[in-house]
Amino acid sequence: MRKPIIVGNWKMNLTVSAAKKLAGDIEGDYKSDWVEKVEAVVCPTYLQISGVAGVLSGQIGLGAQDLFWEKEDGAYTGEVSAIMLKELGCKYVIIGHSERREYLGETDEMVGKKSQAALAADLTPIICIGESKEQREAGQTNEFLEKQLLAAIENIDQADIVRVIIAYEPIWAIGSGDPASPEDAEEVASLIREALTDKYSQAEAQQCQILYGGSAKADNIAGFIGQDNIDGALVGGASLDAEEFVGMLANVAKKND
Ligand code: PEP
Repeated sequence: MRKPIIVGNWKMNLTVSAAKKLAGDIEGDYKSDWVEKVEAVVCPTYLQISGVAGVLSGQIGLGAQDLFWEKEDGAYTGEVSAIMLKELGCKYVIIGHSERREYLGETDEMVGKKSQAALAADLTPIICIGESKEQREAGQTNEFLEKQLLAAIENIDQADIVRVIIAYEPIWAIGSGDPASPEDAEEVASLIREALTDKYSQAEAQQCQILYGGSAKADNIAGFIGQDNIDGALVGGASLDAEEFVGMLANVAKKND
């Protein structure tokens, strides 16, 4: 059985001290018997990772919001490699978030290279895919998402795909307060699993965790988790409020009792 996972994406929010405080508040309200029922992860900015790692006791996982694809040290001004993240205690890394694709020109090819770099360093890539409102209204959602997914995983082999997490994040639902319906999200999640089955095999596809992202919060998470192919959520706004984030974890743990 796939374990549910809730990943907080803190984006470009909080000073280092505020990030440590948030991590401490989440840790403080976290119930240790949830460990078996739900994986909790926070992804602060690069600057905050070290401080947040010092606050967390190990029951809440740590991730980054991006990395660069080159493995070795080198002349890549401003970039951060997978091994640097690994040394600070990161286990996860978000790759290809729609905000990076939109504002920083991140392409499917870059997403693929970053995902491979993460896997090579034993980090779990959380690969984001999602359609725009225009694409959805034009009936292009499935075709577009399949293309985006296959481009990102093109060079990931059978042994590694089970370590990859796919986050379906419809762009129009991110930060809008208007989430996809659990049924619509499930339709896409099952399509993702089908595409993974076709490229690899059912055994691999059944192991991959598929997340929903887009205005998920404590009072709507149960609907998503209740779907066959949705294994958790990537959470922006609601992850910046300790009570709300912990509320999501509690509701997932309850559902998985
Ligand atoms: C996100 O940016 O990954 C996200 C899901 O944001 P929000 O939860 O705020 O919609």
